[in-house]
Amino acid sequence: MRVGMPHLGNLYICIKAMANRLNGDLIVPSLSNQRTLSLGVKYSPEGLCLPFKLMLGNLIEAAELGADTMIMVGGFGICRLGYYTKIQKQILHDLGYDVELVQFGISENKLLGFLQSMKRLTSGEGWPSIISAFRFGLAKLGAVDKIERVVQKVRAVEQVKGAANRLFTQAIQAIDQADDYGTLKRAQRDYIAQLNQVPKDTQVQPLVVGMTGEFYVLLEPFSNLDVENELGKLGVEVRRRTFVSEWVKYSLFLNPLGIDETKKIHKAALPYLKRDVGGDGWETVGEKVLHAKEYDGIVHLAPFTCTPEIVAQNIMPSTKENIPVLTILCDEQLAKAGVLTRLEAFVDLLERKRWVNNKQQRVVV
Ligand code: SF4
Repeated sequence: MRVGMPHLGNLYICIKAMANRLNGDLIVPSLSNQRTLSLGVKYSPEGLCLPFKLMLGNLIEAAELGADTMIMVGGFGICRLGYYTKIQKQILHDLGYDVELVQFGISENKLLGFLQSMKRLTSGEGWPSIISAFRFGLAKLGAVDKIERVVQKVRAVEQVKGAANRLFTQAIQAIDQADDYGTLKRAQRDYIAQLNQVPKDTQVQPLVVGMTGEFYVLLEPFSNLDVENELGKLGVEVRRRTFVSEWVKYSLFLNPLGIDETKKIHKAALPYLKRDVGGDGWETVGEKVLHAKEYDGIVHLAPFTCTPEIVAQNIMPSTKENIPVLTILCDEQLAKAGVLTRLEAFVDLLERKRWVNNKQQRVVV
């Protein structure tokens, strides 16, 4: 069995680690790029959302490299995600690829569903090996996400632009190559230490922008034209709640202590939206309400035609938590120059707003 997978940010590092520990033959296509997008757009129904198109492009590229079995996400939610696997399988078959798609049954059986799907993909590995591989993959994911949080802070204030990104690229390689927990821990510790030592401008108080919206476009930089990095170049500290490691914590495991950020976010959204609208629409509204005091503004990323995010986009201007929100609709028409112009204008607006607020506070004192 040669297993292929679509990309979602740095998730491939975790899946690779699991496959290596289980002696699996995993085919990771190249990171999403213009060719991936062109393939996805060419063979997808036009009105489908960008995550579908990019993932289909990844799957075609994996099939070209010889994968005969594909891992796919799925679920029984109320948006199009539930149809992804069936339609993608049909398209791949129509293109002549005789591939099997294995949908990870996370929505239904949480951790057990995930582990059972993993077992299906191995040639008879026992449960102890599967659990051990799963834990190691998660440890890698956790390490990447911890480092990325530091990168988001450093980018905003680094004296030499690009320093944090260079270290992040090296960190990802080191984590990808780590074969045991000791090496992994050392890589995490060393790169966080190096990021902390990057020369920074200590005089500035960077603007803080929260990133919210649909899961895939938040986590896959190619799909949003690397908005976080561009904000960092403009001297903005980005805060994002959505990380795959966090999602795993709250989605795969039962939560005996009842500490659940997602529940808090749903509760915060209740005055404006009383139920799940599919995808991440409920969370998008709740995040604005819950975190408005911590942010100067919010960048809301939504795939074009994504119904849950359209609901959220229409509610957000009416909340009493009044901070500026810039919605960016991501599709194959999104162009870098247009995104940069909007980000620059948004950052100008936030700076002006902070300046006016500071002035008013001085007058009151
Ligand atoms: S949440 Fe939106 S973008 Fe994601 S699968 Fe559902 S409809 Fe598509």
